[in-house]
Amino acid sequence: MGIADYLGHTIQCECGKQHTVEIQTVEISRGALEEVADILKKDGFKYPFVVSDQNTYRAAGQRLVAQLEEQGITVGSHMFRTEGDLVPDEEAVGELLLNFEPGCDVIVGVGSGTINDLVRFFSHRVGLPYYIAASAPSMDGYASTGAALIVNRLKTTYTCQMPRAIVADLDVLSTAPKEMIAAGFCDVVGKYTALADWRLSAIINDEYYCDRVVDIMRTSLEQTVALKDDIAEGKPDAVGKLMEALVLAGISMSYAGNSRPASGSEHHLSHFWEIRFLLESKPALLHGTKVGIGTVLITRLYQLLQGAGLNSESIRQVSCPQRENWEEEIHRTYLAAAPEVIALEESAQKNDLRNWEQRIRVIAERWPQILAVLDSVPSDHEIETLLTTAGGVVNPAEVGISADLVRQALIYAKEVRPRYTILQLLWDLNLLVPYAERLTG
Ligand SMILES: [Zn+2]
Ligand SMILES: [Zn+2]
Repeated sequence: MGIADYLGHTIQCECGKQHTVEIQTVEISRGALEEVADILKKDGFKYPFVVSDQNTYRAAGQRLVAQLEEQGITVGSHMFRTEGDLVPDEEAVGELLLNFEPGCDVIVGVGSGTINDLVRFFSHRVGLPYYIAASAPSMDGYASTGAALIVNRLKTTYTCQMPRAIVADLDVLSTAPKEMIAAGFCDVVGKYTALADWRLSAIINDEYYCDRVVDIMRTSLEQTVALKDDIAEGKPDAVGKLMEALVLAGISMSYAGNSRPASGSEHHLSHFWEIRFLLESKPALLHGTKVGIGTVLITRLYQLLQGAGLNSESIRQVSCPQRENWEEEIHRTYLAAAPEVIALEESAQKNDLRNWEQRIRVIAERWPQILAVLDSVPSDHEIETLLTTAGGVVNPAEVGISADLVRQALIYAKEVRPRYTILQLLWDLNLLVPYAERLTG
């Protein structure tokens, strides 16, 4: 099935849910920018507001505006002239508002992560639909509803809307900076552990799980991984497959009604580093780069647990996890973001000892099923080979993530989301801290 098959209708699924996605058009092809005028006409829009930054304007924005005008479409536009990286913060949102042309009936973002977040937020707030013309296959946030902004120096995610159309011109994407293509590939490889984490929680917590959604993501993941050499070389068709996987990650999340199909403990590590870099005013790393590094570490944890020789009997003997100094530790590791993390645990109660007792019984009982999930995850060595082939980073130190920050992430990143993953399973088994020490010692 191609992406078009998932759009514009509802699937009545055996999992009990009706799967649906708001996106109406996904165009991934060479020369796709030329299609934007037709898509606008089909959707009945007359006056697009095109948003880009200096890089994306050069790569695609300029050409897009010229093409639209050639087709007789009046265009409003704004280009961010920021030196260095554009940050999706209060200032950028304000700049968009100051330059917005009233009367425009649709916003068209030209860019990747940052522009997508800004345009998604802005269009939602002014009550207009938006399109995104991708400039790089660098992350899986194109087809999602969350806009991640930096507010008061803290990352804050607002639930907004999906794009009406996603346009990915492979002549643009395949010439994107190599590290951005590699980052997108790493984000896709992270689905191995995301899907395994989801399965673990379905077994241990009876969490909602859909085989069909897992199948969509896994198939696309495997097709992408098989093209790693061509993706590294920037061959347009292979880059198109990668982009398809990134968009399908979003569609799968929409189908599941949460981020489970695309985001697990590898993403939690990435979020943790993102928070710390931000609080320490260090320049942000690409999302996919952090996810790739996280995936290597998480597969290592999967492997350690698989080889630990546990059985149902030994699991029943596990002693109760220690949590006396938890709040203090959260303040020490999350700094200004600590109150939010503490509030999250107050509602999630995943470290509550009664909940732990309940889980440990299930873990002991269903250990053979859990072991089968541990067996299914590729080894850290396989993941490292995949990532390096595509030009990804596997060594945290290479991008400024110290061993101490790795250790802290392994122990505390599970607190950034209320989702059950391998990290919480290791906590349940009293193995999280010893394994974190082993990986960083
Ligand atoms: Zn389903
Ligand atoms: Zn991601």
